[in-house]
Amino acid sequence: MELLKKFEAHAATRDALASQGTAPTEITIEKILSPTEAMIDGRHTLLVGTNNYLGLTFDPECIAAGQRALQEEGTGTTGSRMANGTYSDHKMLEQELAEFYGYPYGMVFSTGYAANLGALVALAGPDDAVLLDADAHASLYDGCKMTGAAIYRFKHNDTESLESRLRRLGDHARRTLVVVEGLYSVFGDKAPLAEIARIKDKYGACLFVDEAHSLGVFGDNGRGVVESDGILDQADFVVGTFSKSLGSIGGFCVSRHAELPLFRYASRPYIFTASPCPSVIATTRMALQQIRKRPELRTQLWDNATRLYNGLKEMGYELGPDISPVVAVRFVERAKALGFWQKLLKSGIYTNLMQPPATPDGSSLVRCSITAAHTTEQVERILAAFRGAAG
Ligand code: PMP
Repeated sequence: MELLKKFEAHAATRDALASQGTAPTEITIEKILSPTEAMIDGRHTLLVGTNNYLGLTFDPECIAAGQRALQEEGTGTTGSRMANGTYSDHKMLEQELAEFYGYPYGMVFSTGYAANLGALVALAGPDDAVLLDADAHASLYDGCKMTGAAIYRFKHNDTESLESRLRRLGDHARRTLVVVEGLYSVFGDKAPLAEIARIKDKYGACLFVDEAHSLGVFGDNGRGVVESDGILDQADFVVGTFSKSLGSIGGFCVSRHAELPLFRYASRPYIFTASPCPSVIATTRMALQQIRKRPELRTQLWDNATRLYNGLKEMGYELGPDISPVVAVRFVERAKALGFWQKLLKSGIYTNLMQPPATPDGSSLVRCSITAAHTTEQVERILAAFRGAAG
């Protein structure tokens, strides 16, 4: 059928990825053993490619909270928040998230992807403009496209590029949404949020920050780069996901603006989908408590991140500019990156392979993400595997 011809290109991509062994896109975790270990291809494997930054997926208190909710409230809500799917636990989580950031308003979505789509379409429309960091996540691009607003990209993390675009927008800058991330997950580099906030205030624009990879990771209280850069009172809308440091699935938006609760009436990705299951809400609430009461998780995470980054740097690998839990090793050649990734997998180390068009500058990356649950011995094992794969 003519319509299905387009899949030939996808089949070619998949076959090229499978040319040296299991394709990175076809990896199956046959059995998950802990936050850092699994069986893959019949082999005991160290997981260095998850977003489980605080290692909370097996936290006994989170599991017990999820089990209780499953027992008492059932397997699912079977409905959307606006029609038939709001439980009091959804509201409690919204309140707890807002309190965590020190804001009055919070809203929960079914995934982080839906949170970005849902908040962006509520905020911007065809009469508005959106200024988007060029390296922003696909969900931010998709959400911006859905708004119908004029979209302008500025150079990644380049505040001069941002300011010159705002200047050119003139009065329209006041109807402009600036969309950035706290920590970018491709190279693990941090946004200059303090300077971005200063500029958006100067032009009267609105600032939207996706803290998917920075919640629980940055800031004295784990609130993310908005906290570590001291812009909690300047950021207008902060979004995030439950699927990384909180170890479950879902998303949220918090704000100091009273309009946030009205997003519920203006956001199709919120209205037309089922709300998160009670067990998911329960584990997420408990994970948020763990972030609050166990700062040592963050200390351990940063110790591991620093050890991994410095170890790989000493071996001469080309890495991203900042030490962070995302450590990306850059390769110029696609095939070399794939071969290297396969070697690591065969030595029992699972990382993420990222290739164009998913990478911003056409390079290929073997990306590690480290967690608080990795032991020092495991970090040393990762370093030894990188040494071995290079030879
Ligand atoms: N924003 C960013 C920056 C992300 O990296 C991701 C997921 N990788 C999302 C949003 C979407 O979150 P989720 O997977 O929870 O839908």
